[in-house]
Amino acid sequence: MRWKHRLNIAVALSTLLIVFLLFRNSPYLWLWVAFVVSNFCVFLVFGIIFLRFQYFYPSIFRNSGPEVILTFDDGPDPVQTPRILDTLQKHGIKAIFFMIGKKAQEHPEIVQRIISEGHRIGNHTQNHSLFFAMLHSEKVAQEIDSFTKNIEPLVSEKITIFRPPIGYTNPKIARALRRRKFKIVAWSVRSYDSFKNREALLNRLMKTKPRSIVLLHDNLEQTADILDEYIVQAQANGIIFAKQEHLKKFIHEINQ
Ligand SMILES: [Zn+2]
Repeated sequence: MRWKHRLNIAVALSTLLIVFLLFRNSPYLWLWVAFVVSNFCVFLVFGIIFLRFQYFYPSIFRNSGPEVILTFDDGPDPVQTPRILDTLQKHGIKAIFFMIGKKAQEHPEIVQRIISEGHRIGNHTQNHSLFFAMLHSEKVAQEIDSFTKNIEPLVSEKITIFRPPIGYTNPKIARALRRRKFKIVAWSVRSYDSFKNREALLNRLMKTKPRSIVLLHDNLEQTADILDEYIVQAQANGIIFAKQEHLKKFIHEINQ
């Protein structure tokens, strides 16, 4: 449990105690109780939904060096991932692919290509359940461990970086990650690339600054469509995208 969660619990309990002592005979007692409980819940929900809040588990949002790191979630996809790999190869850029274990098992040849071209792989769970944050502890552990068991042999290296499905965390997920010494890699630029409007997508991506970690999806046609233009425009703005040595340094540093 992170100190922010502990602090929220401590503040809620001590405020409830004070409310009971001061207002136990007041007709407004339950209004005060509802106010304290709802404040507690707002912080809790923010903690679950927003990785940026770092409520349950520390997360990495930026590169320590000036290079921008592209990350692709939810693949590999038999059509879009190779297109994305072609574009990355054309520009000599290396990225991190937060794969879904089940899909990676279906397309081991794409996993091999990703590795052989110098990209890195992160754990995005075995099945990417939309209800991952609602699963029991054993099921959470199983989702993380199945990925490790199935994908590490394809990659021949230990996978230590994790990104939770939908970006939600809770104490069960945090406990499972802490025990396995996983590091959460979050993002500083969210592309919202599931929306298909090309211009809007490129505009959002133009928020990329030095040190950014950019969240994209390699299972989406529109992402594969705009990637080349995004890279060219960002580079014209002075952005430098990570190469193999930068990713190696990034992963080494966060595992310290
Ligand atoms: Zn995902």
